[in-house]
Order: sequence, then C-alpha cells, then structure tokens
Amino acid sequence: MISALAKNYNRRKLAFKKGKGSFLYSTNGKKYLDFVQGIAVNSLGHANPYLIKAINKQSKKVWHVSNAFNIPEGERLAKRLTQKTFADAVIFQNSGAEATEAAIKVARRYFYSIGKPKKNRILCIKNSFHGRTIAAINASGSKKMTEGFGPKVNGFDHFKFGDHNGLKKMITNKTAAVMVETIMGEGGIKVIPDWCLRDLRKICNKKKILLILDEVQCGIGRSGKFFAFEHAKVKPDIVPIAKGIGGGFPIGAVLMTKKVASGIVPGSHGSTYAGSPLATSVANEVLNQIFKKGFLKKVEKISKYFHNELNKIKDDHKKLIKEVRGVGLLIGIKLHNDQSKFIKKLEDNKLLVIRAAENVVRVLPPLNVKKSEIDLAIKIIRKVCNEFNEK
Ligand SMILES: *Cc1c(COP(=O)(O)O)cnc(C)c1O
Repeated sequence: MISALAKNYNRRKLAFKKGKGSFLYSTNGKKYLDFVQGIAVNSLGHANPYLIKAINKQSKKVWHVSNAFNIPEGERLAKRLTQKTFADAVIFQNSGAEATEAAIKVARRYFYSIGKPKKNRILCIKNSFHGRTIAAINASGSKKMTEGFGPKVNGFDHFKFGDHNGLKKMITNKTAAVMVETIMGEGGIKVIPDWCLRDLRKICNKKKILLILDEVQCGIGRSGKFFAFEHAKVKPDIVPIAKGIGGGFPIGAVLMTKKVASGIVPGSHGSTYAGSPLATSVANEVLNQIFKKGFLKKVEKISKYFHNELNKIKDDHKKLIKEVRGVGLLIGIKLHNDQSKFIKKLEDNKLLVIRAAENVVRVLPPLNVKKSEIDLAIKIIRKVCNEFNEK
C-alpha cells in the first residue's frame, strides 16, 4: 500500500496493536521489548493502569476549556511542579518545541520588561536539539535541520560543546540567555559534566544573563533525579519540559523563577490547547507515580545495574562499542561505526532501541522497568554483539 503520509520520516516496517509496560505487540503477532518508549515519552510504560484510570476519569468530566477560565487540574500541576523544583511559575504548552520556544520568549520578555529590549540574543550549542519549529531549528544551529527552511532566523549564536572559552567570548551585552540541553539527547547522549554546568551558572551570574536548561528529554526522572541538573546542584532560571511529563499524552511546559516570571503579563503569551484539564490530569497522575517514595531511588539503582552490565559488554566488544554513556535511564551505546545494522539486528531479536547522532544507539526503558526486562535486554544486546564479532 502506498502511504498518503509525506516522507519526512524513514519509518521502520513495523506497527503495533497494543502495548503493556515495557512491551509492544506488533500487528504481525510478535512481542518486542520496547526501549524506545516513544523516545522517552512513555515514562511509565505502555497502558499504565494508573494513567488509564486518570484519563478515563477525566474524560468523563471535561476535556478542554479555554485558558480564559481557571483550570483547577492545571493549577494543581503547576503548584506541584513549583513545590518540587527551583521554579516559582509555570506556563503550559503542548510539546517540547513549543516549550523551548516559550523559554526563549520568557527570557527575552524579562529583559524587555526591565528596560533592556536589545538584550535578546540566545546562545546555544552548535548542533543541539530544541525541536522543529522555525525558531527552534535556528536555535539548534544544525545545517541538516535548517536546510531549505530559510531565511535564517536572527537572534541565535552558537558555541561548540565543551568550549567554555569560546562561550565566554560569544557573550555580548546583547546576550539574554544561554540555552543548552542538560544532556544532549538527539545529539548522541552527550552529558554536560557537573563542573561544566556549575561553571556555566557562574558565567551567567557574572554576565547577568539567564540560564535555560532544556530538560525536554532528560527531565522528569529520566536521569534518576527529577531534573538532570540536580546532579550538579545548579539552579537554572528557565526550564522547558515535555516528553516524560505526559507519560504519552502530549503536554509541555516552561518552568521559571519569580524574577523571570515578572516579565509575563496578560496577553504576552498563550496557546489554545495548553494546560487542558485532560492533559494536566494525566500529568498529575504521572507525578503521583514519580513522586512516590523511593521511585527515583529505584531508577537510580536499576540504571546503575544496567550501565554496569552494558560496560561489561563493551569491555568484551571493544572493537564494536566505543563507549557507554548517559545518566540514569537515558543511555547511549556509542559504536565505532554506523549503528543502523546494529539497531536492525536488535530489532530482529525483539529489542527496540533508537538512533542518535555520533553512531549512538539510544536505549530508553520506561522508568518503572523491571530488572528481568533489563536482563532480557542485556541478553539480546550481548547476542547481537557476539554475532557482529563472528563476521
Ligand atoms: C524532543 C525534544 C524537543 C522537542 O520536542 P517535541 O515535542 O518533539 O517538539 C526539544 N528539546 C529536546 C531536548 C528534545 O529532546
């Protein structure tokens, strides 16, 4: 059958009829261990009973009302996000790209509101990922993503990953904020070291500019802490989130400090769908689970086990695997060569993973993954590595 979908994705020839926890069941009757989970979206796995209950319950009450009215479920979600984090205020969105765009708007609006409208440039890492809208692709500074989508959007500057001196040189009196992913997801699970993040915070303080940490992929428990930057004990000014917070239901948000929020006045930003009763009810249930006592400790513990086992495989297959990297359950297996065949072999052995840049195989189990499921993944990965070695 010829697809009526435009070809912006190179899709795998695989479709699913249902999911349960860490597993997906394909339309042709096969069972897969799903360590993609919608790219770190299904934080609590497929068909989670708590989320099913939450969405069913809310779906019978009210799905959507305009943001012209108070939305108690959204008020509650925002309150909980601020009580548990650095943030004092929240703006809801519907996706990651919208959340990063809102982060940029919030930063610019803050300087505008204190009489510095020319302080509006955002400094980002070259070839980072902040989403696919026109501003977000220009923030990423990636040739591949911006190609054919000119004219170039002004207002973004770029520095190389890890180049602190370059970064310092690029900050001018027009710079409003530095925006980076705490852990670069699409870029190949590149972790910004804790000392780097702390240095970044110091630089921003000294230059009196804002620090935006994009936690769309690495946030909401994925790293073993609620936010990945908590490992480094830094406090950002603005944080866009999405993916994991909805557990599979589309929702995004930008979190900010009181200082930054002072620039936001009625009419300055909005979105028809954002923060709907349905979306925020589901997200509240995701938080119920992630905030349960011991939940994140368990993520930390099981991810340590997983990293250890993967490193053992790496040690046995040094010619194939260059590095195992990442934090918590945001894991990258970096190969020496192109990873496509490796990923296909894993799929043939019923393990689903996804690529990232720099020959990286991204492994993203749900946060409530069981040890037996990690063991199954390890077994499959080891088998595929052995088969690669035989050749
Ligand atoms: C996925 C992602 C985005 C974009 O999210 P969408 O929901 O696809 O718009 C932005 N930033 C980071 C770090 C991401 O991983």
